[in-house]
Amino acid sequence: MEKPLKYILAEHKLVLKKAFGQNFLTDENLLAEIAEKAGVTENDTVLEIGCGAGALTRELAKRAKRVVGYEIDRRLKSVLEETLDGFTNVEIIYKDVMKENVADIDKFLGGEYKIVANLPYYITTPIVMNFIENAEQLTSMSIMVQEEVAARFSALPDSSDYGAITVAINLRGSAKTVLKVPREKFTPAPNVDSAVVRIDIEKGKFAGADLKAVRSVVRAGFSSRRKMLVNNLINGLKFTREQAETVLINAGILLTARGETLSAADFVRLSESVKAVKNV
Ligand code: SAM
Repeated sequence: MEKPLKYILAEHKLVLKKAFGQNFLTDENLLAEIAEKAGVTENDTVLEIGCGAGALTRELAKRAKRVVGYEIDRRLKSVLEETLDGFTNVEIIYKDVMKENVADIDKFLGGEYKIVANLPYYITTPIVMNFIENAEQLTSMSIMVQEEVAARFSALPDSSDYGAITVAINLRGSAKTVLKVPREKFTPAPNVDSAVVRIDIEKGKFAGADLKAVRSVVRAGFSSRRKMLVNNLINGLKFTREQAETVLINAGILLTARGETLSAADFVRLSESVKAVKNV
């Protein structure tokens, strides 16, 4: 039988670092459920971000063909060597994932892959944005995030949770909350509850769209939430009022609309009409 994580941590006299978002999971059933909900199977390559003491890594390694994990904290090396002893399909890279280039990770993994991670909360948004925008071989992302962040990922247009990150996700796929996880399940317990969100990438979604241009328009559209879209386009894209009104009319969007009422498809249409007037 596997040694419980709390004993391993105690043996290695490891004091967890808050600055690295080290809230670990120890419940074996919960860890197994996360791997299941992520849909990891024996043909999969999995990228885990933030392996910690390797509790989730172990569950992933039991199911996947190959697991590549990133861990910033080298102090965890001896712990991970113990937890992952006997698994020949796991490789841990002791580096800050934020300093890596996503295209290089794609190349290193060498084909399609899934991300499964109990993400350090302080880098959730930049990680999701970076992979959603730049990873070409990614097929899904199942990530533990704060519950309120989970709500933002799968929000509907015109709701208070809907924002630029929701649109970024919807441009490539869709997100849904697959598991709620109360704070007591973590060691140490954080101040908020969490949830596992699964983002599935839909190959070919908005194929042919100039996503770089769409992202510029989304950034402008959400630059000031309280302002009408027309004003955000004037400020963000340096349009005259007449140009801003023309692009909205041509895209079939109300002149009184606000950015947060637009779906990803609306933003794609709007960016086409913007590009007819100006290079973005
Ligand atoms: N996967 C483990 C679990 O589920 O119990 C640990 C999850 S813990 C929330 C996040 C982990 O990410 C920590 O081990 C932390 O050291 C690591 N981490 C934090 N920032 C990182 C970064 N920039 N790059 C790689 N790992 C990072």
